[in-house]
Amino acid sequence: MNVTIDRMECVSCGACWNICPDLFENNHCDSLSQITEPFRFCGDRAEGIIPDYLVSCALEAEHLCPVRIITISRDESG
Ligand code: SF4
Repeated sequence: MNVTIDRMECVSCGACWNICPDLFENNHCDSLSQITEPFRFCGDRAEGIIPDYLVSCALEAEHLCPVRIITISRDESG
């Protein structure tokens, strides 16, 4: 599964990194949510690959995000 964050629309509520801190974190420079380093796709802060053990909390974060900017999709190749 893949995840993207439309970072420019993030309101820094903290829901995603509180519910799923292994996958989402606060960027301390701009205060916006980003993908944690191990799971970034090609180093992109806004795009990641979700390991199986984090799919459940990633879906919860997608659901809880108040501005609906977390998008989770199936890997097309898989
Ligand atoms: S839940 Fe949404 S608005 Fe809140 S910090 Fe995460 S990405 Fe930003």
